[in-house]
Amino acid sequence: MSENPHLEPAATGVLTIDLAALAANWRLLGATAQGAECAAVVKADGYGIGMAQAIGALLGAGCKTFFVATLAEGEQARAVAPDAIIYVLDGLAPGACRRLADARLRPVLSSLAEIGEWAAWSRAAAERPPAALHFDTGMNRLGLAASEAASAAAAARDIDATLLMSHFVSSQWPDDPRNARQIAAFEAVRRHFPGVPGSLCNSSGIFLPQRPHYELLRPGYALYGGNPTPHAVNPMRAVVKLEALILGTRRIESGESVGYDATWTAQRPTLLATIGLGYGDGLPVSASGTAQRSGAEAIVGATRCPLVGRVSMDLAVVDVTDAPETARRGALVEILGETIGVDELAARCGAIGYEILTRLGRRCARRYV
Ligand SMILES: *Cc1c(COP(=O)(O)O)cnc(C)c1O
Repeated sequence: MSENPHLEPAATGVLTIDLAALAANWRLLGATAQGAECAAVVKADGYGIGMAQAIGALLGAGCKTFFVATLAEGEQARAVAPDAIIYVLDGLAPGACRRLADARLRPVLSSLAEIGEWAAWSRAAAERPPAALHFDTGMNRLGLAASEAASAAAAARDIDATLLMSHFVSSQWPDDPRNARQIAAFEAVRRHFPGVPGSLCNSSGIFLPQRPHYELLRPGYALYGGNPTPHAVNPMRAVVKLEALILGTRRIESGESVGYDATWTAQRPTLLATIGLGYGDGLPVSASGTAQRSGAEAIVGATRCPLVGRVSMDLAVVDVTDAPETARRGALVEILGETIGVDELAARCGAIGYEILTRLGRRCARRYV
């Protein structure tokens, strides 16, 4: 908690984004897989922290390759990274060739139909714009089937395939036998594409004991401070801090309830602080502390205090009975940061950290440090 000299009076939530920590995380991931190039996944507005700012910091650290999800995100990325290699994970939407090529974006092709369309475009344009090929090795989401490798290799002769990739199902769990099966399937596909660089690792994949790093790493979550090794201590630095302003405090008696539908009732005389942060700011309703289930916590001074009652659109309420000295109007409490990391907040909300990050801060004041 701090006295908030930096708080914009117009906002009641403050998101502080540590771009030096982002760059340090990128370097750590690269160092963990020496020999491989480390790219950066910046889809969904850089996992919520701001795509342009994330790309700026990562370019400064030496990152040369970026992954986005959509063509629109690719165009946004291109505007701030004129010389970078940018792959579009969602691939080639029908008819999108020209726009992709105009922005020098590389589609991640996921089917024979997409390869065919990109090849036809390449022939007509009399150039060989680069693209990646994505094989599905177990996710059953996007990607060519391993059984299509030979036909894909034949079809891909007409295109400039610069990357061969696949995606892990559960790389955060090193004991999951799916990891070894996916690595074996990827190896088998690779034999059809001699000389094409490979990419299999998301954040967690980088830490697998098999070290399936190949030529290019594709971390997202860990760059932004999420724990890629949930079975062990988080090796990454926190990137995001979320603080909320105390709008006011009140005392209630034992037996009084808090918030919509009275989902929490005080069991003792209680001091409450109302903060200006709600689900409209990305704090999930499931962060609510109810009689049945505890929810998220806020750091008030040095004390962890529970959220009580249902989180509403703009407001949440914290039981600050144990931090009476520091809880007062105008102070900031910390919801997410060094102490309560994104993985802990997510666990307390029954969510995943990725979801917390990408929904955060639509309405918060943002500070980049
Ligand atoms: C989102 C995504 C990544 C990044 O995954 P993290 O777990 O965030 O590191 C990598 N590859 C693909 C295909 C993705 O969709």
